[in-house]
Amino acid sequence: MYVIFLGAPGAGKGTQAAEVARELKLAHIATGDMFRDAQKKGTPLGLKAKEYMEQGKLVPDEITVAMLLERIAAPDCAHGMILDGFPRTITQAEALDKALDKALARQAKGIDAVVYIKVDEEELAKRLGGRWICRQCQAPYHELSAPPKVTGKCDRCGGSLYQRDDDKPATVRERLNVYFRQTAPLIDYYRKAGKLTEVDGVGAVDAVRKNILSTLKKGTAGRN
Ligand code: AMP
Repeated sequence: MYVIFLGAPGAGKGTQAAEVARELKLAHIATGDMFRDAQKKGTPLGLKAKEYMEQGKLVPDEITVAMLLERIAAPDCAHGMILDGFPRTITQAEALDKALDKALARQAKGIDAVVYIKVDEEELAKRLGGRWICRQCQAPYHELSAPPKVTGKCDRCGGSLYQRDDDKPATVRERLNVYFRQTAPLIDYYRKAGKLTEVDGVGAVDAVRKNILSTLKKGTAGRN
Protein backbone atom coordinates (compact mmCIF):
# COMPACT_ATOMS: atom_id res chain seq x y z
CA MET A 1 0.00 0.00 0.00
CA TYR A 2 1.36 3.41 -1.00
CA VAL A 3 -0.06 6.24 1.04
CA ILE A 4 0.60 9.98 1.27
CA PHE A 5 -0.16 11.94 4.43
CA LEU A 6 -1.05 15.51 3.59
CA GLY A 7 -1.66 18.37 5.99
CA ALA A 8 -0.30 21.63 7.32
CA PRO A 9 2.68 21.79 9.65
CA GLY A 10 1.21 20.99 13.07
CA ALA A 11 -1.67 18.90 11.72
CA GLY A 12 -0.22 15.77 13.33
CA LYS A 13 1.11 14.15 10.14
CA GLY A 14 4.37 12.99 11.72
CA THR A 15 2.78 11.47 14.82
CA GLN A 16 0.03 9.72 12.85
CA ALA A 17 2.29 8.56 10.02
CA ALA A 18 4.71 6.91 12.44
CA GLU A 19 1.93 5.07 14.32
CA VAL A 20 -0.02 4.01 11.25
CA ALA A 21 3.15 2.81 9.50
CA ARG A 22 4.03 0.69 12.54
CA GLU A 23 0.54 -0.77 12.69
CA LEU A 24 0.32 -1.55 8.95
CA LYS A 25 4.00 -2.58 8.68
CA LEU A 26 4.79 0.03 6.07
CA ALA A 27 7.99 2.04 5.66
CA HIS A 28 7.65 5.55 7.10
CA ILE A 29 9.38 8.10 4.88
CA ALA A 30 9.55 11.61 6.36
CA THR A 31 11.50 14.06 4.20
CA GLY A 32 11.82 16.55 7.10
CA ASP A 33 13.49 13.84 9.23
CA MET A 34 15.78 12.95 6.31
CA PHE A 35 16.91 16.57 5.98
CA ARG A 36 17.45 16.91 9.75
CA ASP A 37 19.44 13.69 9.70
CA ALA A 38 21.63 14.97 6.87
CA GLN A 39 22.17 18.20 8.82
CA LYS A 40 23.23 16.30 11.93
CA LYS A 41 25.75 14.36 9.85
CA GLY A 42 26.96 17.59 8.21
CA THR A 43 26.60 16.24 4.65
CA PRO A 44 26.46 18.66 1.67
CA LEU A 45 22.74 17.88 1.37
CA GLY A 46 22.23 18.74 5.04
CA LEU A 47 24.11 22.05 4.74
CA LYS A 48 22.12 23.05 1.67
CA ALA A 49 18.78 22.12 3.28
CA LYS A 50 19.62 24.05 6.46
CA GLU A 51 19.58 27.40 4.62
CA TYR A 52 15.94 26.89 3.65
CA MET A 53 14.68 25.10 6.74
CA GLU A 54 15.91 27.81 9.10
CA GLN A 55 13.76 30.32 7.24
CA GLY A 56 10.70 28.08 7.12
CA LYS A 57 11.03 27.79 3.32
CA LEU A 58 10.86 24.67 1.20
CA VAL A 59 14.07 23.00 0.07
CA PRO A 60 14.16 23.27 -3.78
CA ASP A 61 12.25 20.60 -5.66
CA GLU A 62 15.28 19.19 -7.55
CA ILE A 63 17.10 18.44 -4.29
CA THR A 64 14.06 17.05 -2.51
CA VAL A 65 12.81 14.90 -5.38
CA ALA A 66 16.24 13.35 -5.96
CA MET A 67 16.58 12.48 -2.27
CA LEU A 68 13.07 11.02 -2.07
CA LEU A 69 13.32 8.92 -5.24
CA GLU A 70 16.58 7.40 -4.05
CA ARG A 71 15.01 6.58 -0.68
CA ILE A 72 11.86 4.92 -2.04
CA ALA A 73 13.93 2.67 -4.29
CA ALA A 74 15.25 0.92 -1.15
CA PRO A 75 13.98 -2.63 -0.49
CA ASP A 76 12.03 -1.70 2.67
CA CYS A 77 9.64 0.37 0.53
CA ALA A 78 8.82 -2.45 -1.88
CA HIS A 79 5.84 -3.66 0.18
CA GLY A 80 4.47 -0.26 0.86
CA MET A 81 5.18 3.08 2.46
CA ILE A 82 3.70 6.15 4.02
CA LEU A 83 5.06 9.42 2.70
CA ASP A 84 5.03 12.08 5.38
CA GLY A 85 5.90 15.63 4.28
CA PHE A 86 6.26 14.73 0.61
CA PRO A 87 5.05 15.89 -1.85
CA ARG A 88 4.79 19.53 -0.81
CA THR A 89 4.47 21.12 -4.26
CA ILE A 90 2.66 20.19 -7.46
CA THR A 91 6.06 19.71 -9.15
CA GLN A 92 7.02 17.14 -6.50
CA ALA A 93 3.66 15.36 -6.90
CA GLU A 94 4.11 15.13 -10.67
CA ALA A 95 7.67 13.81 -10.28
CA LEU A 96 6.40 11.15 -7.87
CA ASP A 97 3.55 10.11 -10.18
CA LYS A 98 5.99 9.78 -13.04
CA ALA A 99 8.48 7.73 -11.04
CA LEU A 100 5.80 5.40 -9.68
CA ASP A 101 4.22 4.95 -13.10
CA LYS A 102 7.58 3.87 -14.44
CA ALA A 103 8.56 1.62 -11.55
CA LEU A 104 5.18 0.03 -11.09
CA ALA A 105 3.89 -0.09 -14.63
CA ARG A 106 3.70 -3.86 -14.59
CA GLN A 107 1.48 -3.91 -11.51
CA ALA A 108 -0.52 -0.91 -12.78
CA LYS A 109 -0.36 0.57 -9.32
CA GLY A 110 0.41 4.05 -8.07
CA ILE A 111 -0.55 5.90 -4.92
CA ASP A 112 -3.43 4.08 -3.20
CA ALA A 113 -4.63 6.86 -0.96
CA VAL A 114 -3.90 10.40 0.16
CA VAL A 115 -4.95 11.08 3.72
CA TYR A 116 -5.55 14.78 4.25
CA ILE A 117 -5.47 15.59 7.97
CA LYS A 118 -7.54 18.72 8.33
CA VAL A 119 -6.94 21.24 11.13
CA ASP A 120 -7.91 24.94 11.13
CA GLU A 121 -5.28 27.68 11.08
CA GLU A 122 -5.78 28.97 14.62
CA GLU A 123 -5.35 25.49 16.08
CA LEU A 124 -2.23 24.95 13.93
CA ALA A 125 -0.50 28.07 15.29
CA LYS A 126 -1.30 26.97 18.87
CA ARG A 127 0.05 23.48 18.31
CA LEU A 128 3.28 24.48 16.58
CA GLY A 129 4.21 26.84 19.41
CA GLY A 130 4.40 24.10 22.04
CA ARG A 131 6.08 21.34 20.07
CA TRP A 132 9.13 19.45 21.40
CA ILE A 133 11.00 16.66 19.65
CA CYS A 134 13.28 13.88 20.90
CA ARG A 135 16.84 14.53 19.80
CA GLN A 136 17.48 10.80 19.53
CA CYS A 137 14.40 9.11 18.03
CA GLN A 138 12.48 12.19 16.72
CA ALA A 139 9.31 11.32 18.70
CA PRO A 140 7.14 14.45 18.91
CA TYR A 141 5.58 15.84 22.13
CA HIS A 142 3.43 18.83 22.95
CA GLU A 143 3.34 20.96 26.10
CA LEU A 144 -0.46 20.94 26.14
CA SER A 145 -1.80 17.93 24.29
CA ALA A 146 0.93 15.27 24.53
CA PRO A 147 3.43 16.11 27.29
CA PRO A 148 6.18 13.60 28.11
CA LYS A 149 5.91 11.77 31.46
CA VAL A 150 9.14 13.42 32.63
CA THR A 151 9.71 17.02 31.51
CA GLY A 152 12.42 17.26 28.86
CA LYS A 153 12.78 13.46 28.45
CA CYS A 154 11.47 11.13 25.76
CA ASP A 155 9.02 8.45 27.02
CA ARG A 156 10.18 6.00 24.38
CA CYS A 157 13.98 6.15 24.49
CA GLY A 158 14.91 8.55 27.33
CA GLY A 159 16.52 11.00 24.86
CA SER A 160 16.47 14.73 25.60
CA LEU A 161 13.72 16.89 24.08
CA TYR A 162 14.39 20.10 22.15
CA GLN A 163 12.44 22.74 20.27
CA ARG A 164 13.27 22.91 16.56
CA ASP A 165 14.50 26.27 15.23
CA ASP A 166 11.69 26.18 12.73
CA ASP A 167 9.12 25.92 15.55
CA LYS A 168 10.01 29.46 16.73
CA PRO A 169 7.17 32.04 16.17
CA ALA A 170 8.40 33.98 13.06
CA THR A 171 9.39 30.78 11.30
CA VAL A 172 6.10 29.12 12.23
CA ARG A 173 4.24 31.97 10.49
CA GLU A 174 6.37 31.58 7.37
CA ARG A 175 5.92 27.79 7.34
CA LEU A 176 2.16 28.21 7.46
CA ASN A 177 2.29 30.79 4.63
CA VAL A 178 4.41 28.44 2.56
CA TYR A 179 1.97 25.61 3.25
CA PHE A 180 -1.09 27.58 2.11
CA ARG A 181 0.70 28.95 -0.95
CA GLN A 182 2.65 25.92 -2.19
CA THR A 183 1.31 22.75 -0.58
CA ALA A 184 -2.46 23.28 -0.14
CA PRO A 185 -3.02 23.12 -3.95
CA LEU A 186 -2.18 19.41 -3.64
CA ILE A 187 -5.53 18.88 -1.92
CA ASP A 188 -7.27 19.62 -5.21
CA TYR A 189 -4.63 17.78 -7.24
CA TYR A 190 -5.33 14.51 -5.39
CA ARG A 191 -9.07 15.15 -5.10
CA LYS A 192 -9.28 15.38 -8.89
CA ALA A 193 -7.29 12.14 -9.14
CA GLY A 194 -9.93 10.49 -6.89
CA LYS A 195 -7.37 9.63 -4.22
CA LEU A 196 -8.12 12.12 -1.45
CA THR A 197 -9.67 11.16 1.87
CA GLU A 198 -10.26 13.85 4.43
CA VAL A 199 -9.82 13.08 8.14
CA ASP A 200 -10.61 15.50 10.97
CA GLY A 201 -7.27 16.14 12.71
CA VAL A 202 -8.77 17.81 15.78
CA GLY A 203 -9.31 15.46 18.71
CA ALA A 204 -7.43 12.80 20.66
CA VAL A 205 -4.41 11.34 18.85
CA ASP A 206 -5.83 7.80 19.23
CA ALA A 207 -9.23 8.75 17.84
CA VAL A 208 -7.65 10.42 14.80
CA ARG A 209 -5.46 7.35 14.24
CA LYS A 210 -8.46 5.00 14.37
CA ASN A 211 -10.26 7.17 11.83
CA ILE A 212 -7.26 7.08 9.51
CA LEU A 213 -6.93 3.31 9.81
CA SER A 214 -10.59 2.64 9.09
CA THR A 215 -10.50 5.06 6.15
CA LEU A 216 -7.47 3.29 4.71
CA LYS A 217 -8.99 -0.16 5.16
CA LYS A 218 -12.20 0.92 3.46
CA GLY A 219 -10.53 2.82 0.65
CA THR A 220 -8.05 0.15 -0.32
CA ALA A 221 -10.08 -3.01 0.28
CA GLY A 222 -9.11 -5.60 -2.28
CA ARG A 223 -5.72 -4.00 -3.02
CA ASN A 224 -2.42 -4.71 -1.35
P1 AMP B 1 8.78 18.79 8.40
O1 AMP B 1 9.53 18.05 9.43
O2 AMP B 1 8.01 17.90 7.48
O3 AMP B 1 7.91 19.88 9.00
O4 AMP B 1 9.87 19.53 7.46
C1 AMP B 1 10.76 20.47 7.99
C2 AMP B 1 11.36 21.32 6.88
O5 AMP B 1 12.07 20.48 5.97
C3 AMP B 1 10.34 22.05 6.02
O6 AMP B 1 9.92 23.28 6.59
C4 AMP B 1 11.16 22.26 4.74
O7 AMP B 1 12.10 23.30 4.89
C5 AMP B 1 11.93 20.95 4.63
N1 AMP B 1 11.15 19.93 3.87
C6 AMP B 1 10.63 18.76 4.32
N2 AMP B 1 9.99 18.10 3.35
C7 AMP B 1 10.09 18.87 2.25
C8 AMP B 1 9.60 18.75 0.91
N3 AMP B 1 8.88 17.71 0.52
N4 AMP B 1 9.93 19.73 0.03
C9 AMP B 1 10.68 20.79 0.40
N5 AMP B 1 11.13 20.98 1.65
C10 AMP B 1 10.85 20.04 2.57
